[in-house]
Amino acid sequence: MPIQMLTEIEKEISHFLSQLIRINTTNPPGNETQAANFIAQYLAKDGFTSEVIESAPGRGSVIARLKGTGEKPSLLLLSHLDVVAANPTEWSVDPFAGTIKDGYVYGRGAYDMKGMTAVEVFTLKLLKKNKIPLKGDVVLAATADEEKGGEEGAGYLLRNHKQKVWCPYVLNEGGGLAVPQKKGNVYPVQTAEKGILWFKIKAKGSPGHGSTPNTADNAIVRMNNVLTKLGEYQPETFYVSTLKQFLAGVAEINPDLKVPFTNLLNNPGRSEQILDELAKTDRALAEDIRPRTKTTITPTIIHGGVKENIIPSECEAVFDCRVLPGQSVNATLALIKSLLKDVGLDKLSFEIIQIHDGNESTTQTPLYNAVTDVLHEFEPDCGVTPTLTTGGTDSRFFRETGSVCYGFHPMRPDEPNDELEKRMHGIDERITVENLVFGTSIFYETVKRFMT
Ligand SMILES: [Zn+2]
Repeated sequence: MPIQMLTEIEKEISHFLSQLIRINTTNPPGNETQAANFIAQYLAKDGFTSEVIESAPGRGSVIARLKGTGEKPSLLLLSHLDVVAANPTEWSVDPFAGTIKDGYVYGRGAYDMKGMTAVEVFTLKLLKKNKIPLKGDVVLAATADEEKGGEEGAGYLLRNHKQKVWCPYVLNEGGGLAVPQKKGNVYPVQTAEKGILWFKIKAKGSPGHGSTPNTADNAIVRMNNVLTKLGEYQPETFYVSTLKQFLAGVAEINPDLKVPFTNLLNNPGRSEQILDELAKTDRALAEDIRPRTKTTITPTIIHGGVKENIIPSECEAVFDCRVLPGQSVNATLALIKSLLKDVGLDKLSFEIIQIHDGNESTTQTPLYNAVTDVLHEFEPDCGVTPTLTTGGTDSRFFRETGSVCYGFHPMRPDEPNDELEKRMHGIDERITVENLVFGTSIFYETVKRFMT
């Protein structure tokens, strides 16, 4: 039997999201407490007791709990309240007005990720209102600071209030936006994230006059050697379980991709050539997959030199290196240092800016099955695949402490996906009211199924 769309919540959820967007939580500075309080008060109308916890003045996260009998493991509905900055002069509407028009709710955070906060708040409300007999607790946490790494939000809560927020299962952002394929939509469920290794290399030399290059030791030239060495390095291809399942799942629902994806799966050693070939017909797809098969090392900042005629004695560069789950970031750093031996390690100093390992959750869980079953009932022709993202979310804090986390904000593509993704952190960020209803309908049904 097809699952009902919860169209009756349409007005209320749009209005809720609009109000949440109006609370400007641009991080920095964040100011999430006001948004956390707003949610606490909103839920109080339905008899919920929430707790707002601050990691620092103004940096609040809100937690609410709907009790179950304890027969099943608890489930956390996680989201973050902070947003990235928006430049109003670039937008067609005020990014913090929460404008509702033409079937959309506009505003910074509509997509990333106050829209999903709304879906989770309404799921919790409906579970209570409809007196669903839950066998496990359903916990809601809308947290501070994700956009700056989450240490002051999800990280803080797990370090200081673990018993209030930790659950064996977590639903969070990172996936869920359907990708149209030949035989139907494919819904990605984020099950893995690459690790981050941000580091700065300072190359030292000795200064001299620009007109007599051989009398000095040019730090820019040394840095150039660093860039060449790291640029020439060919990291080993390695398919994590998530990627294998993704390739197999998409091949299933798009016959055009059956050949290249099966080829990729069977020949990891030839992945570069196969992706080069695929890029000739679908560059975006090939370049989407490529960084998911190996470590990447990208120079992102470089500084050196002070004057036209002075040979610089210092040059520094920052690198954004992403490491697959299952591979250690520390081992990668050691490898990078060994690659640079010939450049002169005594003349290079390393500074770590951010470092943490990648993470991955298994798909062999009743929650993953519930997600898949519900989506298939909604859309019998759809596919569901786990996906690995190259960027991180707060899921890392939970996966590191043993939770199974899925990035799953169910949305149907109401405009081309690349347009939608551009809006995340971009201009005129918005979400359709239909997707708010769709997301809540899927969420409500999934939680109900998983918890009863
Ligand atoms: Zn986000």
